[in-house]
Amino acid sequence: MIDTQQLSDNVLTTQLKKVVNWSRRSSLWPMPFATACCGIELMATASSRYDLARFGAEAMRFSPRQSDLMIVAGRVTTKMMPVLQHVYQQMTEPKWVISMGACASTGGVFDAYATIQGIDQFMPVDVYVPGCPPRPETLIEGIMALQRIIDTEGLPPAGQRRPLQLAIEPSYKPAAQPVPLTVRRQSSY
Ligand code: SF4
Repeated sequence: MIDTQQLSDNVLTTQLKKVVNWSRRSSLWPMPFATACCGIELMATASSRYDLARFGAEAMRFSPRQSDLMIVAGRVTTKMMPVLQHVYQQMTEPKWVISMGACASTGGVFDAYATIQGIDQFMPVDVYVPGCPPRPETLIEGIMALQRIIDTEGLPPAGQRRPLQLAIEPSYKPAAQPVPLTVRRQSSY
């Protein structure tokens, strides 16, 4: 016979969506795409000092089919972008992307034709982590921000997520130099 007095202490009711989102946010499996100095901070985040395992995201996988969170850490060149997109496409759904650091998010100081001026021109990004480089605490804050997104929204509704662009084309227009330069020819030459 069931003791109805103790029932309230032993039964938990919730929604299926909340349980699914809770399990997803508590077991993120990152796929590190670290190309430069930001990658060192990414490695430090998984170390014992910062202990990313507290957030259930320490199981870094170098196989895209076992990952659901891509962390792009460092600058990406035009030659690398097709590889990055290929890796992203192979990741399991549902999947999320963190753009870590100034270079991944904007190209950083590398305003050059060979450097992608922000990976979000070519693939969807869920969270941007600022800094050059971001400290491990900042990356952890970015992961917590992603967990809040998963908690409240789950996946973006169909059609609202930015599609993957397969063409490598810059989406910005190069501007003229802000200061006009005058080059004078020396008569002594
Ligand atoms: S944002 Fe700064 S630290 Fe990160 S890859 Fe670029 S230059 Fe290196």
